[in-house]
Amino acid sequence: MAARSIGDLRDALTWARERSLPFYVLGGGSNTIFSDQGFAGLVIQIGMLGMESQPAGLAVRVTAAAGEPWDDFVAHCVAQNWAGIECLSGIPGFVGATPIQNVGAYGQEVADVIEIVEALDTQSLERVTFSAAECGFGYRASRFKAADRGRFVVTGVTFRLVPGGAPELKYADLQKHFVNLPDGTTPTLAEVREAVIAIRKRKAMVLDPAEPNSRSCGSFFMNPVVSRKEFEIIETSARATGLLGPDEKFPHYEAGEGMVKLSAAWLMEHSGLQRGATHGGVGLSEKHILAIINRDHGTAAEVRELMNLVQSRVSKTFGVHLEPEPVFA
Ligand SMILES: Cc1cc2nc3c(=O)[nH]c(=O)nc-3n(C[C@H](O)[C@H](O)[C@H](O)COP(=O)(O)OP(=O)(O)OC[C@H]3O[C@@H](n4cnc5c(N)ncnc54)[C@H](O)[C@@H]3O)c2cc1C
Repeated sequence: MAARSIGDLRDALTWARERSLPFYVLGGGSNTIFSDQGFAGLVIQIGMLGMESQPAGLAVRVTAAAGEPWDDFVAHCVAQNWAGIECLSGIPGFVGATPIQNVGAYGQEVADVIEIVEALDTQSLERVTFSAAECGFGYRASRFKAADRGRFVVTGVTFRLVPGGAPELKYADLQKHFVNLPDGTTPTLAEVREAVIAIRKRKAMVLDPAEPNSRSCGSFFMNPVVSRKEFEIIETSARATGLLGPDEKFPHYEAGEGMVKLSAAWLMEHSGLQRGATHGGVGLSEKHILAIINRDHGTAAEVRELMNLVQSRVSKTFGVHLEPEPVFA
């Protein structure tokens, strides 16, 4: 059923509770893989709509209801010249799902700009609010995906954006895109949005019915985060076994607190996996090795099999576990 209001949501949760049925909260479904047998319970699709904004000193506070399509929201904010989420252009799904895995791309993540998450507690059916600090955000993580998984239904999110703010150009691909701009010139937020969408299209990371490589959940595997000590062991062993040439760099990025983030795509490629590899009706995207795509009537079972295959290949080669990003329902 579709929940278009908090009242609808309470009714749906009560209905499921009275029948002792499990429930699944669905946004746009872009990060969900339903089992081939379907979901044996109540699927509640979030349909609350609406947006409002108010000045907050030099910033603007923008609240969007959970059922607003995320990319429409980004387009609206960019059109108003509000900086803070321009690099998150082209990501499918709804606003309400963005705090769940702390959606991020091209150098920005929602944790940087979220001020408040409004939710309904499925246990008490009371409305609750969380400050950003209370959300326990991390890399593709939050309390809503960890200890409190399934407990809170996000009903609205308030973001703090900067009117006329400069765009974020941290990411190498984006910097490359603007390399020919005259010195001292900064691209507009709209130009950055266009650039992000163009870069994403090259990787089939924008949903497009005409692009078979975009029939995915986005990047299927998260970039693994390991301690610096673990990284040194992995790197030494990769050099010793010839997986890495003497002058070749092992890509890694500082992840704070003595942790290091590895590139899941690089690990897959160096484990002998290739873009375009197929497994029954599913396969690895020809344009982005991290995406598992539905080639032709693929099944959820095949997605799981391919996931296991990739995980075991990378684990055998590097001793690193790749964690999936989508949710299996
Ligand atoms: C082509 C493509 C590109 C993508 N690129 C990126 C990217 O660059 N960065 C990134 O981070 N993600 C990316 N994704 C993944 C996905 O789009 C995001 O995670 C998005 O936020 C999921 O939104 P959704 O509404 O579709 O979530 P759904 O698939 O509907 O749900 C995902 C999870 O969130 C829960 N959930 C959804 N709504 C709510 C709610 N209101 N309250 C509580 N729980 C809720 C669900 O129960 C489920 O656990 C991509 C996906 C695709 C298909």
